[in-house]
Amino acid sequence: MRTICLYCGARHGADPMYTAAAEELGIALASRGWRLVYGGGSIGLMGDAARAALEHGGEVVGVIPRNLVEREQGLATVTELVVTETLRERKAIMFERSDAFVALPGGFGTLEEVLETLTLRQLRYHNKPIYFLNVGAFYEPLFAFFHHVNRTQFIQPSHFDLFEVCPDVPSLMDRLANI
Ligand code: AMP
Repeated sequence: MRTICLYCGARHGADPMYTAAAEELGIALASRGWRLVYGGGSIGLMGDAARAALEHGGEVVGVIPRNLVEREQGLATVTELVVTETLRERKAIMFERSDAFVALPGGFGTLEEVLETLTLRQLRYHNKPIYFLNVGAFYEPLFAFFHHVNRTQFIQPSHFDLFEVCPDVPSLMDRLANI
């Protein structure tokens, strides 16, 4: 079964469009019969996407460190809950079990996770696709920074090929259908 890893905020963000996109993604994955792997919480966009997938018959794997079960309110209704000892273990399991990675809007945690996955691809530890779901152009300032990093020659133009940017869920699903 195709398995998609979602990195996204433990908060809902300032605009309801972020929640709408998280729910649309959860529903779209479920309706295609693709498994969702995510951080296991019930809060923020994480919970929105997972609940939407589950409500539409999707398979959802939550991966959560023991000490965050309370803070991130581990979602009891997931298909499978993997409780890890550390954050690193969480990230490793989410990585290993997934065929592709999607970043919705989020904070430091989301950025950390997607940038690590991007870095690992740059270093050729893997070649799994990485997508930014650029809801409401959320990630444009990050891409502007990437261009700054390119101009200052800390990355090269080919590094922009390590990820793709999708403006909305339908375009993302089209890309995921071809991985
Ligand atoms: P945030 O984007 O900051 O709201 O965080 C989103 C999710 O990323 C939360 O579930 C955090 O627990 C998780 N997270 C933050 N840092 C890490 C990390 N280093 N490894 C794995 N998950 C993390």
